Amino acid sequence: MPTIIAIDGPSASGKGTIARKLAAHFGFAHLDTGLLYRAVGLTVLRSGGDSSDAVLAEKAALALDPVKATSLADDADLRSDEASVAASKVAVVPAVRAALLKFQQDFCAAPPESKRGAVLDGRDIGTIIAPKAQVKIFVTASPEARADRRFKELQARSQRTTYADVLADMKERDARDATRALAPTKPAPDAVILDTTTLNAEQAFAEAVRIAEEKIAR
Ligand code: C5P
Repeated sequence: MPTIIAIDGPSASGKGTIARKLAAHFGFAHLDTGLLYRAVGLTVLRSGGDSSDAVLAEKAALALDPVKATSLADDADLRSDEASVAASKVAVVPAVRAALLKFQQDFCAAPPESKRGAVLDGRDIGTIIAPKAQVKIFVTASPEARADRRFKELQARSQRTTYADVLADMKERDARDATRALAPTKPAPDAVILDTTTLNAEQAFAEAVRIAEEKIAR
């Protein structure tokens, strides 16, 4: 049985960086599950549709090539704020979540390249996708710290926005993700909470390694 590390948490909490680095550290495969929802949201937008349209969202999810979508980690359109908002709208649709479930669970059961384990990051990894994961970390930070990181990230990519807009979008997205009926963002009962508000990326990663090694050694 592959070892699974589930990393959940709100946007810009640092979970993506932590997950990527943990995968490299342990020699595991990495899956950024947010890319699946971003790709579905973007497909709907590109077709001229409204990302709140459940029928269009389900159609896009069923037609998605998940391997391709999750290989586009650095795609500027997928990482845009527009795609973030669209992703959180399609993510409330139960049929969308159902369509994306198997790919994620197959990834856990048989990580690519026969790796001994997998690190998945998202919102519902420890609760729905891999409830038996050996390691569960819920990464969080204050909304202001997260908005500040996200704003700097968008600026570095020359995307025009303001801190106030980023903070407002983030709060709206957090609220939608945390209050939806199916698979809301919440720590699994057995998750360790890692608050990165006052930590830099290296410190947050070091803490995540400590938590993971302790759990895996058991
Ligand atoms: O993690 P990221 O910010 O890329 O996720 C984009 C959106 O996709 C989230 O705001 C959330 O609505 C949705 N998502 C989800 N479940 C996951 C991963 C992402 O609902 N496992």
